[in-house]
Amino acid sequence: MQKFCLAIHGGAGTIVKEDMTPELEVEYTKGLEDALNAGYSVLEKGGTAMDAVKASVVSLEDNPLFNAGKGAVFTKKGINEMDAAVMDGLTLDAGAVAGVRNVRNPVLLAEEVMLHSGHIFLTGKGANDFAIKQGVKLEPDEYFFSQYRYDQWRAIRDSDMYQLDHKGDRLVTLMKDKKFGTVGAVACDAHGNLAAATSTGGMTNKRYGRVGDSPIIGCGTYANNKTCAVSCTGHGEIFIKAVAAYDVSALMEYKGLSLQEACEEVVNHKLVKIDGEGGLIAVDAKGNCSLVFNSAGMYRGFRNSVGESEIAIYKEA
Ligand code: ASP
Repeated sequence: MQKFCLAIHGGAGTIVKEDMTPELEVEYTKGLEDALNAGYSVLEKGGTAMDAVKASVVSLEDNPLFNAGKGAVFTKKGINEMDAAVMDGLTLDAGAVAGVRNVRNPVLLAEEVMLHSGHIFLTGKGANDFAIKQGVKLEPDEYFFSQYRYDQWRAIRDSDMYQLDHKGDRLVTLMKDKKFGTVGAVACDAHGNLAAATSTGGMTNKRYGRVGDSPIIGCGTYANNKTCAVSCTGHGEIFIKAVAAYDVSALMEYKGLSLQEACEEVVNHKLVKIDGEGGLIAVDAKGNCSLVFNSAGMYRGFRNSVGESEIAIYKEA
């Protein structure tokens, strides 16, 4: 059996200790630990990388602290529109949804798209119709309501501002402090197969059906057994321009870079040059993992079968 591993993220951005209460830090850490346990226990039992990343992302989607599923932010219209994607590194099969509403776990709908739609990417009402047809679990609007997210949106809903996420109690705008709450997971299983999954509510006050990088294959999510599996978090528009996730894979495939070198190149050079704040998590088929970000912090964690494990939030773990 070869080395296996799982890495997760719960968003990157201006996450600094001074803005965190000890209680909240405990909650975030527990949320990351629960997600890591959910995915890693799948791998430990010999399960697939795809089942592992789904289990971790479902756990994060069900946790209101993160901007995905239950904790999804509000759009300009005061509703929740969610995006998600999965990709299987063995087959290169992928499934993605954008702008879906009332879906409890968009990551599971993305998998349904991959397996049963005959397509790869479904959006809006069509994606919701497909969710109903497949019997994917739906929830009423109230399920996605939290006073915190609502207040965050109310403060900027009459402006043209959009906001990537919050920072403590203070509202932050795109131009000031940034924090991105998207969630994701990547895994390498005991057979050396890779998978990636990403899920998000996008940006507070987003409009015109805005979609970020998360559900776009090659931008926020990518997996290929030949190279790596990647899930990104950060300023989606810039990650799309950088084709960030696929770029990590391409640097490994065509330039022979190691996983860590490729991640550093994309996050700390390519993205930095075009003001792309954020980070990514990645694994390769040897069971190595890299968690790299150019922002103040990134909610993150990993565990592997040789006993290494970490959960961290800030730059200095
Ligand atoms: N990348 C996501 C988006 O732009 C935001 C995030 O990472 O939190 O939709």
